[in-house]
Amino acid sequence: STPFTGLRVCVAGLGVSGPPVVRLLLEHGARVTVVDGRDDDTVRPVAAELAAAGAEVVLGATPLPDACDLVVTSPGWRPDSPLLVAAAEAGTEVIGDVELAWRVKPADQLWLAVTGTNGKTTTVRMLEAMLRADGRDALAVGNVGTPVIDAVRPDADGRHPRVLAVELSSFQLHWSSSLRPHAAAVLNIAPDHLDWHGGLEPYARAKGTVFAPGTVRIVNLADPWSVRLAEEDGDPHTPLVGFGLRTPRPGELGVVEDLLVDRAFTEDPASGAEELATLADVRPPAPHNVANALAAAALARSIGVAPASVRAGLAAFAPEPHRIAYVASVAGVDYVDDSKATNPHAAAASLGAYEPVVWIAGGLLKGADVDGLVASAAARLRGAVLIGADRARLRDALAEHAPGVPVVEVEGPAAGAPEGHTVMDAVVAAAADLAREGDTVLLAPAAASMDMFANYPERGRLFAEAVHRLD
Ligand code: ADP
Repeated sequence: STPFTGLRVCVAGLGVSGPPVVRLLLEHGARVTVVDGRDDDTVRPVAAELAAAGAEVVLGATPLPDACDLVVTSPGWRPDSPLLVAAAEAGTEVIGDVELAWRVKPADQLWLAVTGTNGKTTTVRMLEAMLRADGRDALAVGNVGTPVIDAVRPDADGRHPRVLAVELSSFQLHWSSSLRPHAAAVLNIAPDHLDWHGGLEPYARAKGTVFAPGTVRIVNLADPWSVRLAEEDGDPHTPLVGFGLRTPRPGELGVVEDLLVDRAFTEDPASGAEELATLADVRPPAPHNVANALAAAALARSIGVAPASVRAGLAAFAPEPHRIAYVASVAGVDYVDDSKATNPHAAAASLGAYEPVVWIAGGLLKGADVDGLVASAAARLRGAVLIGADRARLRDALAEHAPGVPVVEVEGPAAGAPEGHTVMDAVVAAAADLAREGDTVLLAPAAASMDMFANYPERGRLFAEAVHRLD
């Protein structure tokens, strides 16, 4: 029996993490009730499957079940959701999927954790590649690919990965209390999801909990919050290892000319330095991505991965779609899809890599401020094409900080557009009009996509399709 045998557990939400959480709890002999406010074809098939496996399923309403010992919530549920408020009032513990995974994981499985506002998926993928190049039985888990809950159970052959590269969102950390990763990196902290957390400080502090007792602290020297969280919320008895795009001091990872260099995890940090890779090994070749590579390298080196494996891992790493992805060159203009830039901090990183640039932006800003972003990008802008619900905020910021830069707003598909054309054809046409030979047209919206598109991959895909129709 396990701590969950016979326990009455309520699972809140049948999203991505809900079904594997229910299955795992049933395997552990828990009595599971799962609730979801939806009652339609998106949830009914999986609901039927879970009911057949022994769970009680409630659709179309989200009551807190009577006599519930523990709530496992979907990470996206806001803390002020009625069920979670009711649980808090009843004194019932609420945890997330990651905390549950931690409590049942095999003892010989080691976690390396990555959090931050931007760069998490890229970094865990790079880390996974480095670990595998070193011959480790490793798996990247998180928002993209395998849910963490599926990596802590034995597979059909009774095996489980020995090392996990774990991507952790602020939501997941908010609902975790006892994680103890071997090492953790906070890549950066910038305003995002402030509506959920109720401000920047609570958002940052949620991420700071990744620095648990005993966890090696990996921090971005260029990001004050990253350093501060490690110093204030981390374990002072563990190594504090900084990374940055400059010459490393002892105890840091950094860049010397065109080399990524480790001066932390060497036999003699006072004088020793290991060359890990060259800048050319890092793809896509943008400064913020070199920082991601250094963070991944630090995590890998914290468990003894060889320098040559860091380089081999970067060479094997395949960049994820919609993250500064080159689409095509048309009439001497490069088109780049960074649809995953869903907040101003991410957009600033990719805008900083191109000049002159025609910027496609807009969508749902989630309460974020765009003045700093626009002011920092102003000198590089050839023009801007604005879309989406919150485009007026961008228009006003451009008028103030980038006067003279032409701005076009696109509300929908062009009148009389050929069949199959979408709003993105109108956007791309407007951008092509603004661009001159040698420029880059960059989709880096700084905003979420859901006002106009299903999600950011669809936004990026429609952009690429429209670019290919330009040819
Ligand atoms: P996450 O999983 O944290 O959302 P991704 O690796 O998917 O991060 O990258 C999301 C977007 O953030 C990218 O499209 C890019 O625009 C931007 N980005 C990636 N790494 C960084 C970084 N270190 N700093 C700032 N922006 C970044």
